[in-house]
Amino acid sequence: MKSFNPPVRTLMGPGPADVHPRILSAMARPTIGHLDPAFVGMMDETKEGLKAIFKTENELTMPVSAPGSAGMETCFANLVEPNDKVIVCINGVFGMRMKENITRLGGEAIVVEDDWGHAVSTDKVEQALKDNPEAKILAFVHAETSTGAQSDAKTLCKLAHQYDCITIVDAVTSLGGTELRVDEWEIDAIYSGTQKCLSAMPGISPISFNERALTKVKNRKSPVTSWFLDLNLVMGYWGEGAKRTYHHTAPVNTLYGLHESLVMILEEGIENSWARHQSNHELLRDGLEVMGINFLVNEKDRLPQLNSVFIPEGIDDAQVRAILLNDYNLEIGAGLGAYAGKVWRIGLMGYASRKENIALCLSALGDALGR
Ligand SMILES: *Cc1c(COP(=O)(O)O)cnc(C)c1O
Repeated sequence: MKSFNPPVRTLMGPGPADVHPRILSAMARPTIGHLDPAFVGMMDETKEGLKAIFKTENELTMPVSAPGSAGMETCFANLVEPNDKVIVCINGVFGMRMKENITRLGGEAIVVEDDWGHAVSTDKVEQALKDNPEAKILAFVHAETSTGAQSDAKTLCKLAHQYDCITIVDAVTSLGGTELRVDEWEIDAIYSGTQKCLSAMPGISPISFNERALTKVKNRKSPVTSWFLDLNLVMGYWGEGAKRTYHHTAPVNTLYGLHESLVMILEEGIENSWARHQSNHELLRDGLEVMGINFLVNEKDRLPQLNSVFIPEGIDDAQVRAILLNDYNLEIGAGLGAYAGKVWRIGLMGYASRKENIALCLSALGDALGR
């Protein structure tokens, strides 16, 4: 074996996105013990930084030591009990995974379906809440990375509470890239990921639970079936400094990376980060439209950080993406499901959301299409 030296790419797909050099160098700092007082201080700062970017005061706000999918599983494993009725919105790949989590936990999934590329219909959700008064939870994806559609989290949470449901929200792609206000919108349980709009490495899932969600966890009739993700145990590790006890070994250097990413977002200002993602989306959109390339999602529901665009007639999907990768070191995403071979997914997430990347993407695409 030899050392692995990856090629230097520009990552403009659905994630991971480009990692900022400051975050890469933070991760190369010396590993210390995960119960070292210096590390414990950094853990507390990380929790405070996450509260700031989630816009929440929730005491239970912390990074799960595993990727976004583990944050998803943490929410469902702690909140869903056997036979619980859960209304789940499916308008892309990640809603389907939510449903899979519910049924594997013995819950009953009531599916509200919308076409891929569309936002979740608040009317359909209201009807499902009316039709299922025993439902306990509403689960939906805020930013569907499989299509680039954004749903109205604020309205969906308000509806859920009118019908006595708590909410589980997937914010893996929205956190840092688009408006998100956990306390103001009364989101009960939320999970995200570090490799999308936080400019950081893959592998960590920030989560936040409010009192309403924690009460449901504490009043469970049956224990959480996952030992690793049981919040009753994890909180003993991520709780206040003095009470900290060994649960698992935190990914020490990866958390240095998350900490640096939070420092950087708070330097920029979270609202400024949302605004940067929006203005860069508009710049890319204008350039693509000049080339005659159209968007899958209507303007109102479009995510600025994930641009799904139709592949022009007669163009070979794989050939174009190969030219971008081999000649320009540029990665964009392929379409999924029914949109495989029909759309490209161009990410402008975190550190990848920069003007020079847009210029590179437009000129590389122009070259590849011309060829
Ligand atoms: C990427 C993503 C996930 C999964 O995150 P991983 O870190 O890949 O496990 C979940 N939901 C959405 C909306 C995502 O974009």
